[in-house]
This record gives sequence, structure tokens and C-alpha cells, in this order.
Amino acid sequence: MEKLFIVANWKMNGNKRSNEQLINCINDKVCENANIEVVICPPFTYLTQILKLKTSSIKIGAQNISENQNGACTGEISGSMLQDIKVDYVIIGHSERRQMYNDTNAVIAQKFELAHQNNLIPILCIGESLNERKTGQTLSVIESQIKSIIETTRIELFAKSIIAYEPVWAIGTGETASPEQAEEVHTNIRNIMEVYDSNIASSIPILYGGSVNGANSKDLFTMGNINGGLIGGASLNGEEFVEIYQAAESLINE
Ligand code: PEP
Repeated sequence: MEKLFIVANWKMNGNKRSNEQLINCINDKVCENANIEVVICPPFTYLTQILKLKTSSIKIGAQNISENQNGACTGEISGSMLQDIKVDYVIIGHSERRQMYNDTNAVIAQKFELAHQNNLIPILCIGESLNERKTGQTLSVIESQIKSIIETTRIELFAKSIIAYEPVWAIGTGETASPEQAEEVHTNIRNIMEVYDSNIASSIPILYGGSVNGANSKDLFTMGNINGGLIGGASLNGEEFVEIYQAAESLINE
């Protein structure tokens, strides 16, 4: 089993008190392990709180980044600001941003480029809607989402990036893609990237996201092309998140 990534997306949840309880619960159970990367992505306002409270075994990510470098962009947070406070990762192109904040593929490509310019590792989210899956468009949607970023930026940037396959119909719905359904898409993602660079295609971590929980995580992470999970709802419950982490730990130690 290669390296596994367990990424928590707290979305717009929490407060100072609940965050402290949650991170303490995770701190207690996450140990230094070169083969498991645990990343916590709190809301912007709590990045420094979690940076202070977390142990050195845990990394920090932001949930978004501005598509602009700096300047007159009221309410935005730039890549250089995230780098300044020592954030490691940034989620880009989450389906909630695509749907609610008009993050188009062009905007996402700018964010992806700026993440790299500021030494942040982007976790690029892609995924099809329920209607797209039902009408047999899953693979073409995935292909156009990936290709648009590769062709607007550079394939080389993917050598230091993560992809998260998140079928929109599985996010926050309690409905999970089966390990086989997810594996099929992950394999296709590698095939799409193979045309540009075979080393990057075979080595880029591809996470699955969509109602991952303590009970289904091990079966998902067992698949050859699933390199961990991006976890929303279940990451807000310390014990459940630790269960997911422990599923990864047991696979790594097998
Ligand atoms: C997410 O928001 O990235 C996500 C996967 O959410 P959930 O785990 O709640 O489906």
C-alpha cells in the first residue's frame, strides 16, 4: 500500500470551542507516519487557531484561494497570505464552489496556478452531477475538467498536486460511490493524464470524496487507485474521523 491522504474539509462549520475539542481528539490519535498524510482544512478564520493547536503529524489546508495575486478584491484571501501563515494545502474547485460561487474551469485554472506560485499543494476537485452520471457522461465530464486545467496551465504542475474525485451526487448525501465505481473513474483519470505524462499519471495521488465514513473507508482505500479520502461531514466528528484515519493506518501496516 502506497501513501494514503486523509483530508478533512470542515466547510463553514465550527467555532473556537468546538474546533479545539475536535483537533485535540485528532491530535491524540494521529501519529507520525511517513505513509499517511492527515490534512485539516478549517475555515479561513480558524487556520491560525488550528496551526497553533495541531501536532506536527498533521498538515493544514485552506478551502479556497483567490484567483488574483493581490489588490482590490474585497473579501478574498490570496495564495501569498496562505503561504505567509504556513498553510500547506489548498482545496480548489470543490463542487460547492463550482455551483454556488461560479468557479468555472477557467477560474479554477488560475487558482491552481497561483497555488503553485505560492508553494501550496492544490487538491483539485472534479466530479460529475447525478444527471451527468445517469446520462452516461461521467467520463467525458471528468476528462474535460482535467484537460481544461492541464491545457490552461502545465502538466508539470501536476507533479506536486492532488486530485480528488468527488461525484457531486455523493457529497453530503450519505450516498457513496461503490469502491468499484470510484476505482473505475480513478483509473480513467490516470488514463487521461497518461497522454500528457506517464510518470505523473501513475504517481499523482487521487483521493475519493463523497460520504466517506468510518464504515466504508477501508473498502474504498483498499482499491489500487484510491489514495485516500477527502472527508466532509464525517470529519466534523472526531471519533468518526479517527476511525477513518485508523482504517488507513491498518491498510498501511498490513
Ligand atoms: C466534501 O465536501 O468534500 C465531501 C466529500 O463531503 P461529505 O464527506 O460530507 O460527502
